Amino acid sequence: MTTKAYGAYAGDKPLEAMNIVRRQPGAHDVQIDIAFCGVCHSDLHQVRGEWPGTMYPCVPGHEIVGHVSAVGSAVTKFKRGDTVGVGCLVNSCQHCSACADGLEQYCENGFTATYNSVIADAPGHTLGGYAQRIVVDDKFVLKVTHAADQLAAVAPLLCAGITTYSPLRHWQAGPGKKVGIVGIGGLGHMGVKLSHAMGAHTVAFTTSANKRQDALDLGADEVAVSRNADEMAKHAGSFDFILNTVAASHDLNAYTNLLHRNGTMCLVGVPAHDHPSPSVAVLIFGRRSIAGSLIGGLSETQEMLDFCAERGIVADIEMIAIQKIDEAYGRMQKSDVKYRFVIDNASLGV
Ligand code: NAP
Ligand code: ZN
Repeated sequence: MTTKAYGAYAGDKPLEAMNIVRRQPGAHDVQIDIAFCGVCHSDLHQVRGEWPGTMYPCVPGHEIVGHVSAVGSAVTKFKRGDTVGVGCLVNSCQHCSACADGLEQYCENGFTATYNSVIADAPGHTLGGYAQRIVVDDKFVLKVTHAADQLAAVAPLLCAGITTYSPLRHWQAGPGKKVGIVGIGGLGHMGVKLSHAMGAHTVAFTTSANKRQDALDLGADEVAVSRNADEMAKHAGSFDFILNTVAASHDLNAYTNLLHRNGTMCLVGVPAHDHPSPSVAVLIFGRRSIAGSLIGGLSETQEMLDFCAERGIVADIEMIAIQKIDEAYGRMQKSDVKYRFVIDNASLGV
């Protein structure tokens, strides 16, 4: 079936309207009419060819919420009209040890990403949520229980939410822990909200002095402007955990120096160019670690959605029509988004 979408034919071309084909729902498929799709910095990295291996045409979008419009004969968990979400994953091998542990994002045979993964359907790779419809295997569809009027602001939870929730849980953010969140963008602002909700003493690090008050309003207990050496020095050697969401290459030592003994800094940003090599001495004096983390598995994503629904947590968003996507990317590159653009997918129809 043909559906309207927005994507690019090359990394140096703007995104434009295109018609794409979605498969007819198979027995285990859920067809979703997409209401809203968040705009992740990964979309920009991928569609502009900042990461290797982009397949064109590229239709980005992996923060999808919408309503079920058809289900296959074997689908029992969902029915027409249900409010659902789809994140960064639409399939995995489902039999390796990672999949068996519910960690589909670490599938040993390679997961199928919501966009830019090879599949049998035309045009030979997955196409994402900047589209009117998507068809997804029911195991990779999430239930959304937030209030109906929060739906647009729920969309960013499907990537920004889970990508911050998963490491915060893994490194046990909670009461008695001092947690830093670096970079107050789409991921970072969710990191501040979630760390605060988990009960950790939360410190936001930003390069943008004008985000200071916002960071406090998001739930940070303290804010440090990272360009200010005195504000950084105040936190030396004090953090149990730092979650670094920065989308650009930068000096990691500025943050590893802030870790307490046995502290960990987890990187989730994937900049186009690697960071300068961090100092080994800073790590060994204090048994500090640098780690990484990739989104989250399906069961943890559902857990995160339920955690947020129970507490009324959503993203802070700015809604855009799809025709404004290139302008939104330009602003995201300047760290000028408060704090996530979300596409109103109804604008694809005009
Ligand atoms: P975003 O909204 O653009 O936020 C990134 C923030 O980083 C900016 O708002 C800015 O915050 C800070 N920043 C930007 N340039 C900087 C620089 N040169 N030096 C220091 N700080 C800078 O991006 P996002 O959507 O949150 O994504 C962040 C990164 O995570 C991207 O690389 C994305 O691809 C990656 N990602 C990874 C995963 C995963 O599973 N690991 C999942 C999703 C996204 P301040 O203004 O506060 O400094
Ligand atoms: Zn993302």
